[in-house]
Amino acid sequence: MKTPFINKEQLEAIATEFPTPFHLYDERGIREKARALYAAFAWNKGFKEFFAVKATPTPAILKILHEEGCGADCASYVELLMSNKCGFDGSEIMFSSNDTPADEFKFAKKLGATINLDAYEHIAYLTELSDFEFPETMSLRYNPGGVFAMGTKIMDNPEESKFGMTKSQLIQGIKDLQKLGVKRFGMHSFLASNTVTNDYYPELARQLFELALEIRTETGVKLDFINLSGGVGVNYRPDETANDISVIGSGVHKVYDEVLSANGLGEVKIFTELGRFMLAPHGLLATRVLHKKKTYRTYIGVDASAVNLMRPAFYGAYHHITVMGKENSEMLETVDVTGSLCENNDKFAKQRELPVIEEGDLLVIHDTGAHGFSMGYQYNAKLRSSEILLQTDGTPRLIRRAERPEDYFATLMGFDF
Ligand SMILES: *Cc1c(COP(=O)(O)O)cnc(C)c1O
Repeated sequence: MKTPFINKEQLEAIATEFPTPFHLYDERGIREKARALYAAFAWNKGFKEFFAVKATPTPAILKILHEEGCGADCASYVELLMSNKCGFDGSEIMFSSNDTPADEFKFAKKLGATINLDAYEHIAYLTELSDFEFPETMSLRYNPGGVFAMGTKIMDNPEESKFGMTKSQLIQGIKDLQKLGVKRFGMHSFLASNTVTNDYYPELARQLFELALEIRTETGVKLDFINLSGGVGVNYRPDETANDISVIGSGVHKVYDEVLSANGLGEVKIFTELGRFMLAPHGLLATRVLHKKKTYRTYIGVDASAVNLMRPAFYGAYHHITVMGKENSEMLETVDVTGSLCENNDKFAKQRELPVIEEGDLLVIHDTGAHGFSMGYQYNAKLRSSEILLQTDGTPRLIRRAERPEDYFATLMGFDF
């Protein structure tokens, strides 16, 4: 059973002040998660988490993570700008972008962010820019190709992934960059998304650590850092078990000692760029039931729609739903939970067994703290919802107001509202 981080009474109280739908974040949970991550990697002297900003690009959240010692992982101009405005200095910003425009490389350089090169070809591209000088530290993104398997289980398909460069490109890239004055190097790789296993990071780490030895042999370079990137997942489904970051941290530690320390590379810093793992369970989407409709199925129509949470419509992703106040009800029925978009994939749940729902009930859609609000859009001229922080002292704080019609009209030319 999955339990929301807030009870019905508290949530109803917030909903009287701030109309549904809204995303609510749990400050306490976020801080505890960051502390657990840092504790799990305390064995590594230079460890740092660069939170993947795309997961939850909300300044109040970024500031909490910054206070907990995290940096920011950015992939676009505005993410860089936001991180800079939130007080992250260059050493706390990773720029892991792909298909990157020249201006964004230059802006990242200006901020002093670490640029994580996605493509070997970008070295020539940057060399040809008249006003770009290579920084002293550069990172390169590795893609091993093939399939990424753990035991007999295929986790993902790097061969098909647009990200990163091959091993020979990576090694050649380091040689080229050395000639261009780069002095310190890092390596990054992201091989599987939303892994619900404590073995993903250790397995990824082993592959990267072994490659680090090869890089030293081929180029003489001792890597400064290895970035394990994102991919540690969450238990969206009630029958899944949450990853245990302390087990993950000691799994990486063991491989680190075996492969790196044992071969004279015990100074390498470990970086992570977790997004989902840090935030998903610490956010929820609160939505109220507007209508109940019966045709060939029973439909529960709520005031949120796929514009507020795209993952179910986009990937068929499962998000658990709690009917607040009816957690222990034994009166169940099978329903589709829908929004109001003119799109039949606008469903938060299909043929799900839930407690019997009535109009006016408040629903919690779980695990929306990452890739939730941030993947929102404005189809059907729907406006983006508010975001609220449940602060450590239990009081709510509005951290993003809901959009108004004038926000939607603001970019239109020759249209006077
Ligand atoms: C999306 C992304 C992440 C975060 O991934 P999660 O699955 O949310 O942990 C980290 N690094 C890069 C480069 C990404 O694109």
